[in-house]
Amino acid sequence: MSGVLVIAEHRQGALREATLECLGAALSLAPSLGGQVTAALLADDPQSLAGELQGRAHGLKLYAHPELAAYNPELYLPVLADIIAASQPSLILMPHSSQGMDLAPALAGRLGLPLVTDCAGLSWSDGALSVQRNVYGGKAVLDLALKPAATVVATLQAGAFQAPPAGAAPTASDRTALTELAPRHARRFLEYLAGVVEDVDIAEADILVSVGRGIGGPDNVPQAQALAEALGATLSCSRPVADAGWLPKSRQVGTSGKTVRPKIYLALGISGAFQHQAGMNNSGTIIAVNSDPRAPIFQVAHYGIVADMFEVLPKLTELFKG
Ligand SMILES: Cc1cc2nc3c(=O)[nH]c(=O)nc-3n(C[C@H](O)[C@H](O)[C@H](O)COP(=O)(O)OP(=O)(O)OC[C@H]3O[C@@H](n4cnc5c(N)ncnc54)[C@H](O)[C@@H]3O)c2cc1C
Repeated sequence: MSGVLVIAEHRQGALREATLECLGAALSLAPSLGGQVTAALLADDPQSLAGELQGRAHGLKLYAHPELAAYNPELYLPVLADIIAASQPSLILMPHSSQGMDLAPALAGRLGLPLVTDCAGLSWSDGALSVQRNVYGGKAVLDLALKPAATVVATLQAGAFQAPPAGAAPTASDRTALTELAPRHARRFLEYLAGVVEDVDIAEADILVSVGRGIGGPDNVPQAQALAEALGATLSCSRPVADAGWLPKSRQVGTSGKTVRPKIYLALGISGAFQHQAGMNNSGTIIAVNSDPRAPIFQVAHYGIVADMFEVLPKLTELFKG
């Protein structure tokens, strides 16, 4: 048993960022596991998606089938079971996404392997895996030491691991294989229904001014809107703001909202719970304004202002209007 197998995820013809994060976690663990990292990609046209995996995994296993434009568990399970039986990896990683939540337990159950989900940290010592998981809404971190096992299946929390740069792991040509899967009867994917973009798509914005519960109520939202307009930015928010209806749900950043990666993310009155951080911690420059110096948002912010946002907001708006 050695090495790490990463199950790649794609949607609408694009590889998902969370797959690269899994490769980052895999590459940092692989030396302690005494093995290499292999990515398995099942798609209708896997070669068109494999470019981003090249240089980030030591080996690639590509599987093509016309019914694999979208995730299809009936096709994934037998193929992955074969790969695992043949390569016997110490660890199998995939994103904690709707796909991962479906696939990981099915795979673990089918192969009788231990499963640990939604991991925010991973380490390996003395032949056993230790993981960190956020609990109680991110207020505490659970350290779990797993019993030693030949192979463990784990899903990883979005945003918790860094994607490796291209070239971090030279992909060996003799460890790259494309297999055309034989036609087989499986359930058919009919249609992808994208979430409705109600007004603007915050995922497309270069600058986001994001408000949290600290905004106090809907009457104060126009103050943040004025700053957003002065900056040429888009307004986004944390979940309580969307839940209260102060801004539409489409503006919510986080695990149950959108993942964003603007050049600048200005967080106003947002505590920085992990569910929020997971949606924005890959932003270019993060600036946080919060009256509480211990707010977790300051752990990911590049610049922090400990102050009442209602003192800072008008000053910034005035400054940028000019
Ligand atoms: C399954 C699940 C999914 C979730 N998904 C998401 C998600 O997608 N996105 C998300 O955001 N959350 C999500 N959450 C909720 C998350 O756990 C937090 O509760 C939420 O992010 C907190 O929002 P907040 O920071 O706006 O509010 P709070 O945690 O209440 O923080 C408000 C902050 O404002 C500061 N503040 C107050 N007044 C001022 C002032 N005048 N000036 C400056 N600072 C001030 C306070 O110091 C505080 O830090 C989810 C939770 C669960 C359980």
